[in-house]
Amino acid sequence: MEYLPLFFDLKGQSVLLIGGGDIALRKGRLLTRAGARVRLVAPRIDAEVRELITGSGGELIEAEYHRQHLHGVRLIVAATDIDEVNRVVHADAVAAGLPVNVVDNPPLCTFIFPAIVDRSPIVIGISSAGKAPVLARNLRAKLETLIPPSYANLGELVGRFRSQVKAKFDSVNKRRNFWEKVLSGSVAERVFAGQNEAAEALLIEQIERADADHQVGEVYLVGAGPGDPELLTFKALRLMQQADVVLYDALVSPEVLELCRRDADLIYVGKQRDNHAVPQEGINDLLVQHAKAGQRVVRLKGGDPFIFGRGGEELRQLKEAGVPFQVVPGITAASACSTYAGIPLTHRDYSQSVKFITGQLKRRSAAIDYDDLAGNNQTLVFYMGLHTLDVLTAGLIGAGKSPDTPVAIVSRGTRPDQQVLTGRLDDICARQAQAQLPAPALIIVGEVVELHSELSWYGDSQSSSVPIA
Ligand code: SAH
Repeated sequence: MEYLPLFFDLKGQSVLLIGGGDIALRKGRLLTRAGARVRLVAPRIDAEVRELITGSGGELIEAEYHRQHLHGVRLIVAATDIDEVNRVVHADAVAAGLPVNVVDNPPLCTFIFPAIVDRSPIVIGISSAGKAPVLARNLRAKLETLIPPSYANLGELVGRFRSQVKAKFDSVNKRRNFWEKVLSGSVAERVFAGQNEAAEALLIEQIERADADHQVGEVYLVGAGPGDPELLTFKALRLMQQADVVLYDALVSPEVLELCRRDADLIYVGKQRDNHAVPQEGINDLLVQHAKAGQRVVRLKGGDPFIFGRGGEELRQLKEAGVPFQVVPGITAASACSTYAGIPLTHRDYSQSVKFITGQLKRRSAAIDYDDLAGNNQTLVFYMGLHTLDVLTAGLIGAGKSPDTPVAIVSRGTRPDQQVLTGRLDDICARQAQAQLPAPALIIVGEVVELHSELSWYGDSQSSSVPIA
């Protein structure tokens, strides 16, 4: 280890900052955020720097650096681009036994600034020992995305109850176990959902009931998106990575499933048309059962759980059973497939509205109000419509929709084997009979489909697309 990471308490401490431009501004912001009183020395000082320093109770000295400015300070930062000055500052600091940082000049530093992820009171510093600052910053960007800003609130909450928990448990191990549960369970999730008061109430309850060994878990109804794992939300990923049990269905891609916590029990409750691995009531029971056993249960659903996902039904049962839950939206198939196929769902010239319709027809009868769908300037998106394509297209034409309205079938959208088949209302069935694109597939009807040949960008869709005749 080339540097020892330490966290410096600078509250009310005097820090000498040399320089009056942009770099000084950046360092000045950091120092004042940590509560330092900054003495800033420079012959010319930018207005913004001036404002920062005076506004935070610091001191401005408009002059060339001189050794006397070191008097009474605890730390020195040189943020000038004049080598000569930097070298003198470094030499003076070393002679005075004071820690010094010359920005972007590691040989003249006795301490260095890390890249920082600030979720105060949680702060993460990343250093590459000055060798690869861009790498450290990349790493920081990764962490920024993984750690929700509300970690700050979580840190505060834990801080407030720390002594209470300490008094409650007589051993370090018990305390640690307790906090581990709290921080990866429903209290933390409440904080991340912005429900700070509910989180606090739950924490108090958990502290009180800590001796009773049984606690109810929680269910997270999570939208897994259409298949491409990069289309998961940060929140989905986080919950998947801390789940004890994951109940997933047929639409969840193997690549997405791969991202669940290694130790989690993965239970397939998949539904393929007419072939329910576990019937809906069974799924609801399983959710309740696992949560009541104190587990963190992720119910992973393809796309968005509230769009043709029966999410509402599962939640109702959880509510009745008194199991806490949260819902995480996902990218729905309509949004994902149209994007990956280069078909904007709305377009100023062609379509002013879009409708999501289920093509799952009970008894294959006309449960759909085709008259409502026949109008122009709208895009229709049919989910679960591949096996009723003949009924749907006939219904639309019957209601007066033009037979040459463009249609696209997007099969296995966003996945490596995505295929797009285009045609018209009156020939798409024949084309599909020949092409046999596999499920899951989405049907898009409307003028916007014409844009596919122009805007398509994903995968090898030229060879798999059949152009509109
Ligand atoms: N909740 C899901 C939809 C569930 S209904 C969502 O929001 O996307 C199942 C239907 O979604 C399938 O029959 C198909 O029409 C569509 N679908 C889901 N994923 C798809 C994908 N990757 N490509 C094409 N269609 C998909």
